Amino acid sequence: MASSEIEVVSSDSKTQENPPEVPVFDVFSASAYGDFQKLRKFVEQDGASLSKPDVHGYYALHWAALNNFPDIAHYIIQHGGDVKATENVQQTALHWAAAKGAIAAADVLLQNGARVEAADVHGYRAVHVAAQYGQTSFLNHIVARYHADFDAPDNEGRSPLHWAAYKGFADTVRLLLFRDACQGRQDKEGCTPLHWAALSGNVEACTVLVYAGTKQELTVKDNAGFTPVQIASDKGHQRVALFLANQQRAHSNCWRDKFCSGKMADIGYAPVLLCIIVFQTVLFMNSVLAAPNLTKVTAAVGIWGWTAISLAVGSLIMFYRCSSKDPGYIKRAGDLSNPINTEDPLLNVDLNNSAVWMGNWSQLCPTCKIIRPVRSKHCPSCNRCVEQFDHHCPWISNCVGKRNKRDFFILICLGTLTSLISTAVAVQRIWGALPGLRTEESWIRRVVVQYPSIVAFLLVDVIILIAVTTLTTAQATQIARNITTNELANAIRYGYLRGPDGRFRNPYNHGCRKNCSDFLIQGHTDDEMAWPPLQQVAS
Ligand SMILES: [Zn+2]
Ligand SMILES: [Zn+2]
Repeated sequence: MASSEIEVVSSDSKTQENPPEVPVFDVFSASAYGDFQKLRKFVEQDGASLSKPDVHGYYALHWAALNNFPDIAHYIIQHGGDVKATENVQQTALHWAAAKGAIAAADVLLQNGARVEAADVHGYRAVHVAAQYGQTSFLNHIVARYHADFDAPDNEGRSPLHWAAYKGFADTVRLLLFRDACQGRQDKEGCTPLHWAALSGNVEACTVLVYAGTKQELTVKDNAGFTPVQIASDKGHQRVALFLANQQRAHSNCWRDKFCSGKMADIGYAPVLLCIIVFQTVLFMNSVLAAPNLTKVTAAVGIWGWTAISLAVGSLIMFYRCSSKDPGYIKRAGDLSNPINTEDPLLNVDLNNSAVWMGNWSQLCPTCKIIRPVRSKHCPSCNRCVEQFDHHCPWISNCVGKRNKRDFFILICLGTLTSLISTAVAVQRIWGALPGLRTEESWIRRVVVQYPSIVAFLLVDVIILIAVTTLTTAQATQIARNITTNELANAIRYGYLRGPDGRFRNPYNHGCRKNCSDFLIQGHTDDEMAWPPLQQVAS
């Protein structure tokens, strides 16, 4: 694959930071550093031309566009600058604006006759350059306002999605998928965007592509006969290779497809857990409490025994509630009663959502076609976005989210208590039945031989006790901190979990007491983010 690697756009000059002290000695440097006064002087007093390039072939308008000086760009256009002028590789000023996401300058260019679809020698349009540099806002702007073709191929047949995937700009990938960019497009080498994401080894870009895509993209081969998983493996990107291989396996599970169709295929381990709870309860009643070969149950043990059974019944009720309850699915565009204007889905879905204007692109869901609130996440198992997503629990075959988290917490608390009490009762029953055998060497074997069902019950019960106690402790700690399992695991991905110094900071943590009382009283905790008013951030 080495020969097919996409060449990085040669634009060292574009990405250089401005030096602190810059000598402004001609129209080019004045345009590049935004010195309007000197630019005017050069043009109006010294008679310098704005329609000619410098010694490198770059125009003053290119520099003004790159560094986003709309006033200067406008002045240059009024004084002879050509918006269609191109430099050595046929890039226009709009290409340069795209490299740095200079939206205001691009507006000036496009309103003065620049062509949004102008292509350079490689066939790159402004959309390609924006994707190569991860300028998601810019890309969205020229697509929404100037109808730029976000699926256009360059000379090698690569679309902006190929480029964003290769460069690992997951937010740009999200935006393009949200706008229905073609995921299955193969370039001249037969590579899809997923091939390129696998080649560069970007886990997040691969994840977004796979969850929004189909089985087809996972198995399609390039001209050399390689699938994305083989490419990731060849390049030594083990995490990506493992993820893609797992996804491929999940998609090609023929047995499951054949025997379990529709909802049955997504049912998870819930029936197994249900059977375990019922089986353990029956075993406890028959073999522990009412066993014929044990002594009669004392009043105290009887009370504890029936408490455990009542708690088990309570667990079953909570289990049903957790599994069947809506965990907080977010309405999709198709679920709304008023059909939205599909001409520009992004701007019409939620124009007033300040998060979008703040460039919070990670909140776009390419599958549900929504801008989801902060703290929510798309669950690939449920194929829906879930508010305050905690985790998808296969044991209840449902997500744990804003609306069923309290039920889930009660379920695991009940589970802990039930298994703890029933274990204690079972141990007490055996202990009481073998008063003379405790010191003998073979008493364990005799217990196993005489009371196999109690031993079986105890084994399963202890495993449940350890698992459920660990889970309850973890959940209780998270509730006290008002953070979800997903946020803890993926904190690095979420900008809202970082303070100004770049370190972890949880804006939802209002102290242990308030976090716990909010959770127990309301059933969920605060997830409001104090977004600045729209006008303020959009300006
Ligand atoms: Zn979603
Ligand atoms: Zn789920």
